[in-house]
Amino acid sequence: MKHPVSITAVSDYGEEAILAALRQLLAPLGGMEAFVRRGQKVLIKPNLLSANAPAKAVTTHPDVVSGVIRLVRECGGLPLIGDSPGVGSSRAVAEKCGILGVVRATGAKLVPFEEALPFPHEIGPFRRLEVAREALEADVIINLPKLKTHQMMGMTGAVKNLFGLVVGFRKANLHLRAGSDKALFALMLLELARHAAPALTVVDAVVAMEGNGPGSGDPVRVGALLAGVNPVAVDTAALTLLGLRPDSVWTHQVALRQGLPGTLPEQLELFGPALESLRPPRFRPAPDGDITFGIPAMLRPVLKKSLTALPAVDPAKCLACGICQRHCPVGAISIQKGRLQIDCRSCIGCFCCQELCPEGAIEARQGALLRLQEWWRARRRK
Ligand code: SF4
Ligand code: SF4
Repeated sequence: MKHPVSITAVSDYGEEAILAALRQLLAPLGGMEAFVRRGQKVLIKPNLLSANAPAKAVTTHPDVVSGVIRLVRECGGLPLIGDSPGVGSSRAVAEKCGILGVVRATGAKLVPFEEALPFPHEIGPFRRLEVAREALEADVIINLPKLKTHQMMGMTGAVKNLFGLVVGFRKANLHLRAGSDKALFALMLLELARHAAPALTVVDAVVAMEGNGPGSGDPVRVGALLAGVNPVAVDTAALTLLGLRPDSVWTHQVALRQGLPGTLPEQLELFGPALESLRPPRFRPAPDGDITFGIPAMLRPVLKKSLTALPAVDPAKCLACGICQRHCPVGAISIQKGRLQIDCRSCIGCFCCQELCPEGAIEARQGALLRLQEWWRARRRK
């Protein structure tokens, strides 16, 4: 069975241009009417990571949210907009990133994720997984990720965006339970995506993010919207578009290992321009976070500093605001005499600190063996 993924090239934002592009994008999938029926409660889940202007490319662009709301309304659906930001209230984040204005203008409803309920059955490696009540009560979920690099997972797109269905500090708890096992965390994300079962994913890659993502990278114009039903297949198309190594995106690596449908490019049925034709020149992925070959498990803790990327703070940018300290799931961050200290022995490499730092003061610092691996790869490519 092939997994349809539609791609539409669109050079820039603009409410009407994006609405027209969305119609074109969804046409091969049957249009919005294939997903939404009159009277249905439709939870639209953008990326509302943190309070940033749309031009920073941290959050889903308001024009994409607006276009999807309008299409849902045309089908008679009742659009609800919800996400659980990494830091701050969803209202404050939505206001700064322009989505609150869209909600007001379209008469949609912003739903703050406050109450968490467990899935009615055991799922994933942690068995009990709680998500926002609105996600369980919606008739339809439409997933609206922003395409970005992600220091911990490699890329955030269709699968990773659904982590925002988990409410507030429960996200930190899941990081804590996975520890430094990124494959385990990725498995949890894949199970969450499978059970949340969005009817449709629309990826905002008009302007994506490269480098130090997902919170402090650089905007990069890709000029594309992607859509599909299977989030894994949509991510396969997205990482192919960006030219990322399949093993550099943890959710994809684990999905490949599990043989999940839609992980191989040949399993996709693509509509629209060739993915490679939209690839930005010299796209900068997130720095590799781990050595991926041949080190025995028993040696890994001893060689942790050499084998992994760990967070490092730029004292010139850090304002000692304490946001990262409050969100570190293992309490590895302290502020002493106004200076940030990170205890690398207890750090699990989740990069929540980097993701949430409003000053972009935290970057990944690769260990010596990891740098060697990168040098070796670059040499082989020549
Ligand atoms: S690193 Fe960033 S989040 Fe952490 S204290 Fe400094 S400015 Fe605040
Ligand atoms: S220091 Fe940063 S990367 Fe390390 S565990 Fe804490 S939040 Fe995660």
